[in-house]
Amino acid sequence: MSAEPAPPRVFRAFPRPTPARARLRAELPEYLPARMLNEFVYCPRLFFYEWVEGVFAHSADTVGGGLRHETLDAGESGLPAPEDTDGIVFRARGVMLSSDRHRLIAKMDLVEVQEGSVAPIDYKYGSPREGEDGPAAWPADRAQLCAQALVLRDNGYRCDEAVAYYHATKQRVRVLIDGTLVEETVAALQSARALAESGRIPRPLEDSPKCPRCSLVNVCLPDETLMALRWRDEESAIQPTLFEPSELQAPEPLERTTEGEPRRLVPARDDLRPLYVTGYGLTVSKSGGVLQVRDRKALLQEARLNDVSELNLFGAVQVTASVVEAMCQAEKPIVHFSTGGWFHGMTQGLGLRNVFLRRGQFERAADPVFCAQLAGAFVASKIRNQRTMLQRNHVEPPARALLRLKALAGAAARCDDIERLLGIEGTAARTYFEHVPGLIKVETQPGAMGFDFEQRNRRPPRDPVNAMLSLAYAFLVRDLTIVCHAIGFDPFMGFFHQLRFGRPALALDLMEEFRPLVADSAVITAINTRMVTADDFVRTGNAVGLSKKGRAGLIRAYEQRMDTLVTHPVFGYRVSYRRVLEIQARLLARVVSGETGRYVGFETR
Ligand code: SF4
Repeated sequence: MSAEPAPPRVFRAFPRPTPARARLRAELPEYLPARMLNEFVYCPRLFFYEWVEGVFAHSADTVGGGLRHETLDAGESGLPAPEDTDGIVFRARGVMLSSDRHRLIAKMDLVEVQEGSVAPIDYKYGSPREGEDGPAAWPADRAQLCAQALVLRDNGYRCDEAVAYYHATKQRVRVLIDGTLVEETVAALQSARALAESGRIPRPLEDSPKCPRCSLVNVCLPDETLMALRWRDEESAIQPTLFEPSELQAPEPLERTTEGEPRRLVPARDDLRPLYVTGYGLTVSKSGGVLQVRDRKALLQEARLNDVSELNLFGAVQVTASVVEAMCQAEKPIVHFSTGGWFHGMTQGLGLRNVFLRRGQFERAADPVFCAQLAGAFVASKIRNQRTMLQRNHVEPPARALLRLKALAGAAARCDDIERLLGIEGTAARTYFEHVPGLIKVETQPGAMGFDFEQRNRRPPRDPVNAMLSLAYAFLVRDLTIVCHAIGFDPFMGFFHQLRFGRPALALDLMEEFRPLVADSAVITAINTRMVTADDFVRTGNAVGLSKKGRAGLIRAYEQRMDTLVTHPVFGYRVSYRRVLEIQARLLARVVSGETGRYVGFETR
């Protein structure tokens, strides 16, 4: 370990893109759902994600609310015509109506008809707010109920009040549909439409207590995004021409301060775990909600589908159709590897449909300046992390190599030409791998296959360390491919790695900064802690591969590494590496969509 101060961090600024959402106007639905007005009043950014970008994620509230609505929807019944409501008392469930005047559509949980007048009732999962005169409806709920009332009025019904039913406290809260509320609601409606048509996502809420409860907090990353926006604003104020590629300068190093430090609103770790199945002739089937791994009829392992994040199959493992269907429905991938660990591909459901991000990604990938700058950021972070690996773990940290890597990282950060960058990356890789033997603290017996390492080789790996590195990189590219899919990126369209059939170029781009920190580190740990020993390899010709036991040891080391909590060097909170992969990919999505101005690579100190 060393107390040497962290190298200065250089951040890149990217040219502002033509807004990728500029052509959205024609694509917006004609009618705005009343539920979306609720989202708009709660948070305009949430509304934009859901209505414009079609992003949706479940939280405890939305799951609870969804179950409640499913129960209500089961009993749908017709609403009498306005002229037939006089003198009757009636309850209609699941009523869907629209208003041409307001271009609104509303699905109402319940409409109570009483003596010629109607009142929509909306079921809410949470509790009411404390008003001056007792429980009161939240502003977002008031807007949604008023929108429902406007739809009913436009269909000829008399509607002077609505009701919010709060499930947590079992309270009915009346909402008077008066002129003031109608005025506010119509204004909110106009603002929501104008926002959607602008195609510009609003800034996140500042330090809002709404965010921790928001179902899209993991997608939005409000505090992290605000921090990135502040950097962009500061840069724009200091250097108005910074976004001109010809005038690109190395920006000042940015030190993390505790002022305005992001809250950790995302969970530190995932509760879900990947399931690995390695073994010739095994079968994965499903019984109820449980995945079962069998060797012919013998049951080897069981895992609840709800506890599994993905299913990894190595070699000739069979899966039943019901497993494929259940995994696709749950949007959990089945990942296919060769017996030796080559990542073949994935089976998955439809995934996220965020077509706008993909469109922006394709536009930006065609911009050579953007690609070169982003590639420089990826490679600079990788080199700095390689340097940190040597500095922390080498038996005798090589001073000259550390200096050289520092210089190469700076050169990569300033480089605006991909060909030159490849040269810098290659030189850094040779410098780093030359010293990797100093990270291995296990003696090799004379004449035996051991952990001697001379240089990186692959296809096929020709020694145990290279065999382990190849497999660990395959795991990492798999994890980042899954993350890219989940966010809405096309994993095959990269900015640094060139397009090649079947190559997940974007996953490989994002992987650069994590290679040393996750994959190399897992390999070194597996060797030094004897999770994998020299007996765990098989040689075929000049190719070396891991035995089943060796693979299990490396999987354990890799998963432990992914589960390790690490302090985010910029945001200052602790999260697992698995979460960091997603956070970095989401930050990249901000840059690609033009919301923020630069990509900040993940670097440990
Ligand atoms: S996390 Fe906060 S800022 Fe982001 S969408 Fe949700 S409420 Fe809005």
